[in-house]
Amino acid sequence: MKNLTELSKRDLGVLFDRIQAAIALVDREGNLVSWNSAFEAGKRRFPFASNLQEMFLQKDADLIRLKLIEGGEEHWAGEFANTETDAAVLCDFWLMPTGDDHMLFIAERIESEADAENMVDKLRKQVKMFQKESEHSKKLARNKQIEMEAVIAQAEEVAHVDPLTFLPNRRTIIKDMQSEVMRAERYHSLFSISVVDIDNFKTINDTYGHPVGDEVLRHVAIHLRDGIRHPDVVGRYGGEEFIILLPNSNKTAAAEQAARLCRELRDKKIQLKDGEIHVSISIGIAEFRIGEDSWHSLLKRADNAMFDAKNQGRDRWVVGE
Ligand code: GH3
Ligand code: MG
Ligand code: MG
Repeated sequence: MKNLTELSKRDLGVLFDRIQAAIALVDREGNLVSWNSAFEAGKRRFPFASNLQEMFLQKDADLIRLKLIEGGEEHWAGEFANTETDAAVLCDFWLMPTGDDHMLFIAERIESEADAENMVDKLRKQVKMFQKESEHSKKLARNKQIEMEAVIAQAEEVAHVDPLTFLPNRRTIIKDMQSEVMRAERYHSLFSISVVDIDNFKTINDTYGHPVGDEVLRHVAIHLRDGIRHPDVVGRYGGEEFIILLPNSNKTAAAEQAARLCRELRDKKIQLKDGEIHVSISIGIAEFRIGEDSWHSLLKRADNAMFDAKNQGRDRWVVGE
């Protein structure tokens, strides 16, 4: 930016035109020499005025004439460009000698009380609008939160539930097994598990198609879920394999359950859209050994027992070593 002393007349002209205050250069008699656009706007009401005093009421004009003659720096407040028809504009006035026997006249509008009230009113409206907007955005945020909670609940369900059978998924059933291992170790409680595998499931898939295979999977899942009693839980461990967790049950109790599940499914016809189908399951059972087993070794023993059941002809249960 230029040093102020380096500003040319043109620069000053541009500068003054940007200023909201009305500025005019007058001689000591009040004759208008030059003025900025803000002054021009006020002067439009007095198109024939060639003298500053002509733009004021008589009493004010006399006062200005005196001030001009005195030639000192002056500051006062009054009404500017007041006519019969237009409302008065309250202004701060300055007169400043320029050093070459001219005076710089400056009028800066003072916001009237009505203006101030308008401004306050506007502000109030803006605040209200802002409040409304923030209430609206709060509502949106609340809706968003509900939405998010639903998504989270869904995500949690997805994380724990198998989407095909709606049984606890592999992760969940393993976690349940781990908890049961901890409980057994701490309280010397006992528990057993059963590994359930659908017999010849590949054949079902190959014969009727994958969607029918899925339907059979769902039927078996329901059969297992409805065939166990609290606090037993059944989860889908993978493909066509399920795990039943039997807290507080020894292998004999698990075997009784396995026998029942095999029998009931054997006797059941699974109703499909186009006909019915028979399926059987093989079950391997293992009882937790405190101080020896982990959930993993327990599962391995149950799995081996299940394979033994397959080898012995399927549709049966075997208790693991
Ligand atoms: P086994 O009696 O020895 O258990 O024979 P199987 O045919 O049941 O055993 P196998 O492990 O050979 O086949 C299991 C089949 O299960 C293979 C796989 O394509 C199918 N499968 C796994 N998951 C799904 C599923 O979600 N839906 C369907 N429809 N099939 C599945
Ligand atoms: Mg299998
Ligand atoms: Mg199978």
